[in-house]
Amino acid sequence: MIMISACLLGKNCKYSGGNNENPCLIDLLKDKKTLPVCPEELGSLPTPRPPAEIIKGNGYDVLHGLARICTKDGGDVTESFLKGAEAVKKLAQSHPINLAIMKERSPSCGVCKIYDGTFSGKTIPGLGVCTALLKDLGITVISEESPLSPEILTLIKESESSYPFINGFS
Ligand code: SF4
Repeated sequence: MIMISACLLGKNCKYSGGNNENPCLIDLLKDKKTLPVCPEELGSLPTPRPPAEIIKGNGYDVLHGLARICTKDGGDVTESFLKGAEAVKKLAQSHPINLAIMKERSPSCGVCKIYDGTFSGKTIPGLGVCTALLKDLGITVISEESPLSPEILTLIKESESSYPFINGFS
């Protein structure tokens, strides 16, 4: 089963109220068993919501209490992000997840880069807080921008099942 950021499948859970629908990914996964998640909504944050970024750090720093996640107007939403990431972790532990595909640059879902905390659109190398927890579980995590290596294609192929495509969203 493939865990995936719900916004990539078209769920309107993005901070702006929109989504990050990725038609290529949807086509690639159309006969695969998927588990769409939005950690920020699972953290009880509303949609739409103010944009937030990790300030001076990455997802691991947040997990270890070394960085906070704040909105542009200075509101501290760290606890909500941690709550959502923990909820996703529980889902990952209770489902046979063999790959996670998460939205690049998000403070929750980013895999290789995140916004730098200045709300200027600049990115830095780093990962989001939910992705950090998934990696700690030993799950292979890629983003929608990652190259599809033979190893990744094998993991996707192994997610084929007779179950219908799950798009009920959490
Ligand atoms: Fe998408 Fe993740 Fe942001 Fe939810 S938290 S909108 S799944 S990038």
